[in-house]
Amino acid sequence: MIGLKESITSKRIAVLGAGTSGMAAVELLLSIGAPSILVSDSGKIAEWKKDFFKRHGVEFEEMGHTNRVFGSELVILSPGINVHKPFIERIKQSGIPIMGELEIGFRFVKGEIFAVTGTNGKSTVVTMLSKMIENSTMAGNIGAPLSKFHSKSGVFVTEVSSFQLMSILDFRPQIALVLNIDQDHLDWHKDLDEYVAAKARIFENQKEGDFLILNYDDPITRSFAKRAKSRVLFFSLKEEVDAFLKGGKIFIRTDEGEVELIHVDELALKGVHNIYNALAASLAASIAGAKLEKIREVLKTMTALPHRVEFVREINGIKFYEDSKATNPHAVKWALQSFKGNIILVLGGEEKYLDYTPLILSVSEKVKLLILFGKNTRSLERTFRGVVDIEKAQSMREVVEIALKRGEAGDTVLFSPGTSSFDMFRNYKERGERFQDEVRRVEI
Ligand code: ADP
Repeated sequence: MIGLKESITSKRIAVLGAGTSGMAAVELLLSIGAPSILVSDSGKIAEWKKDFFKRHGVEFEEMGHTNRVFGSELVILSPGINVHKPFIERIKQSGIPIMGELEIGFRFVKGEIFAVTGTNGKSTVVTMLSKMIENSTMAGNIGAPLSKFHSKSGVFVTEVSSFQLMSILDFRPQIALVLNIDQDHLDWHKDLDEYVAAKARIFENQKEGDFLILNYDDPITRSFAKRAKSRVLFFSLKEEVDAFLKGGKIFIRTDEGEVELIHVDELALKGVHNIYNALAASLAASIAGAKLEKIREVLKTMTALPHRVEFVREINGIKFYEDSKATNPHAVKWALQSFKGNIILVLGGEEKYLDYTPLILSVSEKVKLLILFGKNTRSLERTFRGVVDIEKAQSMREVVEIALKRGEAGDTVLFSPGTSSFDMFRNYKERGERFQDEVRRVEI
């Protein structure tokens, strides 16, 4: 096992990827005095980063990984790099150990690590939890990479993705949460089984005394319980488990007994999916020793993060919501649950080879018009033909024009694309902003 700080410090190390995570790993390695670091990026490296490397004696290569990487004794992988790439396969075959940036961060952070994964809700729950636990820090996707906090103590509430979990070795959070699991990232993972197995790695190194919080209502996460060595706690909207709803109120079970938190109507976040998020975060926070009053306060005050079913504007009685962060059908399904009906749904974007048939029932019940926009339009059209009235848009402006032309007072336009944005945009934020801009520029 390459667990020890000493064994890392003396090694020749290659860091693959010079993005935010790669840079954080390099800083960490420099701080522990690693004698030989090579950064290798498949794209261009920004000038300021190159200057930084030169100043600190870090070697680098850009526009492709070369055989220089094979001269290293340890490879640190950025989360954006797919472990199935032939180059990574070659490294594995050569016997050079590989670990993700999350793993190295884990080894050098002194504080406690709580980790949150799931297909949807990670950022929301990490934010909620870090507000509930005083003096805690958000890390991972939504905060800074864990490596940034090397040698720092405290509580680190860390968002972890399936990609990151693919390249852990000893990563062991004291509290792990798995919010839900549904198909996603099938353009990255070999298949659904691999995706589920990656998610399950969040608790693979947990021991007695650690906690695993699982969604009881989700068959996949529920099935994880039997494999856990840690103490399993469940949250559910259907059964009175460790965090649950009774008479419209949120309850958690603590060592002192059942505790009532708030009525769901007081929850600042809207939508059933956010009740799940609230249950999961409250349970984790109470285990971490957060004050009940603080938990209640956060539940009552924390509103949605941007680009998550965010209200934009009402035009002629038609309400526009932007949910660009919905990058899989599971998120769309729950967004649809948040509205009664008369929905004009905008779907589409990058082709991720996901199956949208699980949406057919809710679409047929609640959606009056489906606007398709993006690269996977054709496959979406095949899925929804005959289920609902469909229109296709070529631009974001046209999306909004169609919605306005076809919508009537009382309708809800829900931009919840159900896939990633990389076919046309830099990221989900840019896509969401484009939609909001188009909605805002409409003159009435
Ligand atoms: P993640 O970090 O896992 O992507 P976010 O909190 O950013 O999660 O939310 C991503 C998308 O999923 C948004 O569209 C949001 O409305 C939706 N969402 C949030 N929590 C849940 C949940 N528990 N179940 C289903 N969808 C959710």
